[in-house]
Amino acid sequence: MTAANQRSLVPETNIERDQALCESLFTALRDATSDGIGITRESFGAGESLALDIVESAAREAGLETERDAGANLVVTLRGTDAELPFVACGSHLDSVPQGGNFDGGAGVIAGLAILAGLKRDNFVPRRTLKLFGLRGEESAWFGKAYMGSSALFGRLTPDDLASPHAVSGRPLSDCMGDVGADIDRIARGEPLLDSRRIAAWIELHIEQGPVLVARDLPIGIVTGIRGNVRHRTVECVGEAGHSGAVPRWLRRDAVFAVAELITHLDRHWRTLLERGRDLVITSGVMGTDSTEHAIARIPGSVKFSFEARSQSQETLEAFYDLFISECASIGDDRGVEFKLDRRLQSSPATMDPGWVDRLRTAARELGLPDETIPSGAGHDAAVFANAGIPSAMIFVRNENGSHNPFEAMKIDDFMKGVAVMRKVLAEAIT
Ligand SMILES: [Zn+2]
Repeated sequence: MTAANQRSLVPETNIERDQALCESLFTALRDATSDGIGITRESFGAGESLALDIVESAAREAGLETERDAGANLVVTLRGTDAELPFVACGSHLDSVPQGGNFDGGAGVIAGLAILAGLKRDNFVPRRTLKLFGLRGEESAWFGKAYMGSSALFGRLTPDDLASPHAVSGRPLSDCMGDVGADIDRIARGEPLLDSRRIAAWIELHIEQGPVLVARDLPIGIVTGIRGNVRHRTVECVGEAGHSGAVPRWLRRDAVFAVAELITHLDRHWRTLLERGRDLVITSGVMGTDSTEHAIARIPGSVKFSFEARSQSQETLEAFYDLFISECASIGDDRGVEFKLDRRLQSSPATMDPGWVDRLRTAARELGLPDETIPSGAGHDAAVFANAGIPSAMIFVRNENGSHNPFEAMKIDDFMKGVAVMRKVLAEAIT
C-alpha cells in the first residue's frame, strides 16, 4: 500500500466540532482555575489536579480510555490494532505559573484531545496506538525545578530534586507528588515509569512564549530545538552593613555595588559571546536587599538574587557558567564580599528530530500553511522526551503578549491551524 493510499484511510475531520470541543475546554479550564487576575494551576497541587479532571472527563465523554500513570499524569489512549508497535505520544503540561495564562501547556493537551476525540468519533481504528499525556509539574515557578512530571517518567528526578521545597509552603516536592497519587517510591529509586523504547515519537503543540511569530506574521512555526538552562534560585552576596555617612569607600563592603559590578561584567561577557555567534540569554529576575533591615542610610550588607543562563548549546552554558563563577570570586576579593550560591539547577538543551520536523513542515505545506522553523527560547517537556532518546518535535502557535502572564492571547484560528498540522502527522504515523 502506498503512503497516499494509507493517508486516504484517515477520515476528514469535522473541524467545527473539533473547534467547539477545544473552545469549551479552554473555557472550562479558565473558569475552574481562574485566580481573579490570571489562572493558577499549581504543580502537583489543586488547580493542576482540577485541570486533569476536566480533560479526563471530556476524554471519557468522547469514549476514550483514560488512566493516571505512576507519575499521576493523565493518559488518554486511542488503542491501535498492533500492540507490538511502539506508540505515538502527544500532549503537554497542565500546570501553570502563579497568575499565568490559560494557553501555556493547556493548548497542547486540548489539541491532543481534539485529535483523539475526532478520530474516535469517526470510528477510526489505527494500527499504532496513540496516547495523549496531560503532564503535571512542568513549571519551575513552584519548586525551582522545571519538567518535574516528565523527568519522573524517565527516572530523572534526583534526591535533591525531590527534596526541593515548595516556593510557598516549603513542603518537599516528593510530599506534594505523593499527595496527588504519584508512586514516590519508584520515582525516588530513579525507576523509569515509561519505557522510552515503547514510544515512537513525542509531538507537542505549544503557544510561542516569545514575540517572533507575531513579528513575522506567521500563525504557526515548527520548532528546531529547545534551549537548556543553568540556574541558581538564590545567590546571596554577603558584605557588611554600616552607616552610610560614616564608612569611607575604601572600608566599605557594599553588597549592592558588588552585585551591580557582577551584572555589568556578565552583560559584557554575554555581548562578547553573542558577537561570536553563540546562542545565549541571561536573566536575573529576582533581586533585592532585605526589606526588614534595608534603609536609605544603611550600607547594604546583603543582596539576594537569582541567576539564569539559557542556550541551545551545553558548551556555551558551561562556558558562561565558568565566567560567572570566576567573576564572583574576583569581585568578591576586590570588594570584600562573598557570593554564596545555592544548589545549581540545570536542564539540557534538546534538538528536535529532523525527520519529524520534516514531516511537520510537509504537512503544513500540504495544508497551505507556512512551514517556517523557529528555535524555542523557553523550555518544554519535549526536551525531556528528546533527551530520553525519543524522536520529538513541536509546533508553536502564534500568541501575543508573551506568556507566564494573564495577557497571553492566542487566536483560535491560529490554534486550529496548529491542530490540523498535528492531526495530519499523527494520523499518518499511526495508520
Ligand atoms: Zn509551557
